Amino acid sequence: MPRAELLTPSGLGELTAALQRTTSSSRLLAGGTDLVRSMRHDHWEPDLLIDLSGLRELVYVRLEGDRLRVGALTTFAELQTDPLVRRHARCLAEAAARVGSAQIRNVATVGGNIANASPCADGVTALVALGADVRTIDGGGRSTVRPLEQVLVGSGRTSLAPDEAITEVSFAALGSDRRTTFVKIGSRATVTVARLSMALIVKYDGVSGTVSEVRVALGAVGETAFRDARLEELLEGRAAHEESAHLFADGCTDAVRRAIPGRSSLPYKQRAAVGLAYDAWNALGLCDRCQPAWG
Ligand SMILES: Cc1cc2nc3c(=O)[nH]c(=O)nc-3n(C[C@H](O)[C@H](O)[C@H](O)COP(=O)(O)OP(=O)(O)OC[C@H]3O[C@@H](n4cnc5c(N)ncnc54)[C@H](O)[C@@H]3O)c2cc1C
Repeated sequence: MPRAELLTPSGLGELTAALQRTTSSSRLLAGGTDLVRSMRHDHWEPDLLIDLSGLRELVYVRLEGDRLRVGALTTFAELQTDPLVRRHARCLAEAAARVGSAQIRNVATVGGNIANASPCADGVTALVALGADVRTIDGGGRSTVRPLEQVLVGSGRTSLAPDEAITEVSFAALGSDRRTTFVKIGSRATVTVARLSMALIVKYDGVSGTVSEVRVALGAVGETAFRDARLEELLEGRAAHEESAHLFADGCTDAVRRAIPGRSSLPYKQRAAVGLAYDAWNALGLCDRCQPAWG
């Protein structure tokens, strides 16, 4: 097997030059937690590896106006504790905290989580709920921005060209009137791949006690994380009490059924959706702890 050529750009100019040399067999290397595992497991090597670890300028979290900007090489360990992320995108901080182990979070990047396009990617589920945009740069030095949903085209598939690198992900920072959380269920409590994940964002009016502008993203059900308009509309303007939690749980099971009709995992995922719906609702802290009928 031929050995991959390794390029180690140390700035965006050098990255652009490196991207000009890519083919469909070339790969970018960020934290390597998905890529190196795949190379070892499937016994393959790219023709060209572009190691991004020297691009320290792509490690940042910034609040610019009302937008939070996160550099593609920011790790989940950094996202988990970053004060801006915790204040303005708590669902992303919580998702980051649930990625793998501490060792994985220390190197796994948000850009790699997107580009790997796993249906189970925790960061992606939170970013879909946040309505994130993805900025890229290509071998011609062109910088473009498109919605995350346009980057993710299927399980393990993106619309990224071989000479295109993610440089940033950005989204509207959540204000203090928003409540948000990320929850997931896997085969064990920690270091586990999601069997179902959910990010929930609501605007909460403390005077009327109602929720609005609801955003729910579901992950690990279907090819990519997605929002379900019918599920979101169900909660619009509802009082933040137990009845709404039951409605939300029913809506989540319906959304799962619409996403994977007839799939063998459907009964499990529908039941998991009920549990996650209550976990998410309770995590918002809007009313007394609600429980499913079986709880
Ligand atoms: C033990 C273990 C546990 C894990 N647990 C979880 C978990 O709980 N939740 C979860 O979501 N993930 C989990 N993962 C998966 C993984 O850690 C994440 O998907 C991680 O975010 C990938 O980022 P990376 O920097 O390691 O990417 P890499 O492995 O370096 O790259 C992944 C892919 O993205 C491409 N890529 C990387 N950066 C860019 C970029 N800037 N622009 C364009 N393409 C790029 C690479 O070419 C490659 O195809 C786990 C992995 C392991 C090994």
